[in-house]
Amino acid sequence: MTTIELKKIQKKYGEKVVLDNVSLSIKKGEVVSVIGPSGAGKSTLLRCINFLEVPSGGEIIIEGQPIQYSVNSIGQLTLMSKIKMSKVRSKVGMVFQHFNLWKHKTVLENIIEGPIIVKKKTKAEAIEKADELLNKVGLYEKRNDHPSDLSGGQQQRIAIARALAMEPTVMLFDECTSALDPELVGEVLQIMTDLAKEGMTMMIVTHEMRFAKQVSDRVIFMENGRIVVEGSPTQIFDSN
Ligand code: ADP
Ligand code: ADP
Repeated sequence: MTTIELKKIQKKYGEKVVLDNVSLSIKKGEVVSVIGPSGAGKSTLLRCINFLEVPSGGEIIIEGQPIQYSVNSIGQLTLMSKIKMSKVRSKVGMVFQHFNLWKHKTVLENIIEGPIIVKKKTKAEAIEKADELLNKVGLYEKRNDHPSDLSGGQQQRIAIARALAMEPTVMLFDECTSALDPELVGEVLQIMTDLAKEGMTMMIVTHEMRFAKQVSDRVIFMENGRIVVEGSPTQIFDSN
């Protein structure tokens, strides 16, 4: 079964073409790593999938449903489309390079807010799920701390828990270990490896080639806004 299908996604900034008709189909449980030089469009591709950037053309289909959206004269989502996108985003979990946690909220508050507001969970339901996820990422004892009390690796594990709390169908990781001190990278990659083993559908932009080789079902190499090569990790990494 296909979880996400991208059909000829195009993204332009002015005249500059950043995504040039990218088509891609990701099966349920598949782990796809996206690699390529800086400026290739990897981050933009992920951001288009959950409409943090509005594609200039093409179609995004999530679990068989095409995402319909409308834009105003300057290419921004209309209000109706923005409202709709909160639902799309709840299906598409995203973890960024910079953790984007709310500083003034506790770890627990960071995790329960989305499920309560977007998914209409009761507070008790949201807390139960959050505690389960905090155990999963090994940070239950930090639930009442603030993000600034945590290391970068711990904050990133909380950001992963927060995304998982929305019960997404796919998780997108945009260079989520690039801003971490080297000794903290492993703890985040371990959580991602566990998720992959549990069957989560994942799309990962990373510079961690050894990790990409170990965890991916498929590797996509992008350059100049296009998918240049794709294949199994062995095909991509052992061919030269
Ligand atoms: P990658 O993730 O592969 O490094 P990006 O998707 O971040 O690449 O960027 C692809 C290209 O799009 C780069 O040339 C970048 O400068 C450009 N770009 C990204 N965002 C914008 C923007 N908001 N306005 C103009 N150009 C942008
Ligand atoms: P990251 O490496 O975390 O993807 P970047 O430094 O590439 O972040 O981009 C940070 C922000 O700046 C993004 O919102 C991106 O869209 C925007 N951006 C990147 N390149 C350009 C550009 N050439 N012109 C305008 N905005 C850009």
